[in-house]
Amino acid sequence: MKPLEEKLPQEVRRLLKRIGHFTETEETPSYLVGGIVRDLLLGVSNKDLDIVVEGDGIAFAKDLGQKLKREVKTHRQFGTATLFLKDGLKLDIVTARREEYLAPAVLPGVSPGTLRDDLFRRDFTINSLALRIHSEGFEEIVDLFGGEADLQKGLIRILHPKSFIEDPTRIFRAVRLETRYGFQIEPFTLSRLKEALEEKMIERLTPKRRRTELILLFKESDPSKPFHRLNALGVLKHLHPRLSFSKSATRGFDRVHEVLDQWGNSLKPNPFFLRYLCLIQKLSFEDRYALSGSLAMTKKEMRQLMDLRIVQGRIGNLNQLKPSEVYAHLHGLSSEILLFLTITAKEEGSKKRIEKYLMDSRKVRLKITGRDLKTLGIPEGPLYKKILNEVLKSRLDGLLNTKGEELDFAKKNWEKRR
Ligand code: ATP
Repeated sequence: MKPLEEKLPQEVRRLLKRIGHFTETEETPSYLVGGIVRDLLLGVSNKDLDIVVEGDGIAFAKDLGQKLKREVKTHRQFGTATLFLKDGLKLDIVTARREEYLAPAVLPGVSPGTLRDDLFRRDFTINSLALRIHSEGFEEIVDLFGGEADLQKGLIRILHPKSFIEDPTRIFRAVRLETRYGFQIEPFTLSRLKEALEEKMIERLTPKRRRTELILLFKESDPSKPFHRLNALGVLKHLHPRLSFSKSATRGFDRVHEVLDQWGNSLKPNPFFLRYLCLIQKLSFEDRYALSGSLAMTKKEMRQLMDLRIVQGRIGNLNQLKPSEVYAHLHGLSSEILLFLTITAKEEGSKKRIEKYLMDSRKVRLKITGRDLKTLGIPEGPLYKKILNEVLKSRLDGLLNTKGEELDFAKKNWEKRR
C-alpha cells in the first residue's frame, strides 16, 4: 500500500477503492480534490470528501449512490451531488467546471470543463491539489500550480492576481487557513489582498455571503486567532468602520468555550450568534444594527439584539436583587442572550444570579393552576394571571413550598384585591 493511503481511515480507503472500480468500469475519471488532499498531506483528519468527475457528475453520483445504497442529494444548477455515508462522512461530487467572472465580487458563470479548469478555479495553491482515484489506490498527486511545495513551506498563495477581486470571500478564507495551520500568506498574495481591501471589495459582497464567511470563522477551533489577524489586516473595518477585535471580545470567545461545555446540552444555544454577540459588544446599539443588517441577520436575531439592548439598559448589579426580581429581568430571553450576560457580567455575584436563574428559577412551575383558583371561588378573568404571578414571585423567593401554601397565598392575595 502507498503511504498516502495509509493516512486515510480504513472505511474511506475501502470506499475510494469501490469508487475506483466504478470509475474504471464507467470510464469516467474521478479525482479527490481540495481540502481533503491538503489535509491528507498535512496528516489532519477531514470528513468532507470532495470528488471531481470529468464527465456528468450528477449521473455519476446517482449511479454510485445506487451501488452503495446511499441517499444522494443533487443540486442540478451547480452540477453537484452529495452522498451521506456512515460515521458523518460526506461525499460531494462535482462535474469538473470552468468558471468565468463577469463582474467583481459576484458569483461566476459556470460551464463544464477539464480537471485543469476545475483546479484553476480554486482559491489557493494548497487547495488545488488532486489525487486520481483508482481501484488499486491513488496515483501520484496532480499538482499543476505548485501546491505541494507551498504546503511544505506553509504558504497561502493565490493562483492568479485577480483572485481576491473576483471573489473577496477568499480574503476570509486565506486568513482562516493561515491561522488554522500556522501558515503565512505569502507577500504577493498579501499585497493583492490589501489591494482588494482598498478597492472596497468586501463592501461589494452580498450580506448572505459575508454571513457565511463569519459562520465559518466562528467554527474554527480557536476563532480568536483569525479575528486577531483580520483585525490587524484591517479587514474588520470593511465590515463596519468601528468594528475591531477588542480584548473583551477575545475574553468573550474564550468564555464561550466554557459556557458551551457547561450549558450547550441543556440550553442548545446557537454558537454562531453567541460568538457574534461577543464580537460586537463594544459597538453602540446603532452600530450593531447597521452591521447586523449588512450581515443578513435573521429577524429573530435582530429581535434578540433589541432584547439585549433593553435588558442591558435595565439591569445593574443583580446581586442586590431578590430571585423574583432577577426572574422578571431575565424571563423570556433567549439562551444566547442569557449566556452572553453571564459571559459579560461585571460582578461575580451577578453572574451567579444569572446561573441560578438558568439552573433553577427558569424551570420553576407552580403547583396550582387557574382551575384551583376557580375552586377557591375566584371569578375567572385577567385577575388569574395577576394572582398566579404573585404566587410565582413568592415561590421564587422561597416563601412557598407546598401546594397548600400556594393556595393559601392565592386566596389571601385575592382577598386583598377585593
Ligand atoms: P475546510 O477544511 O475549512 O472545510 P476546505 O478547503 O475543505 O476547508 P470547502 O469550503 O469545503 O473548504 O471547499 C472545498 C474546496 O473548494 C477548497 O479546498 C477549494 O479548493 C475550493 N473552494 C472553496 N471555496 C472557494 C472559493 N471561494 N474560491 C475558490 N475555490 C474555493
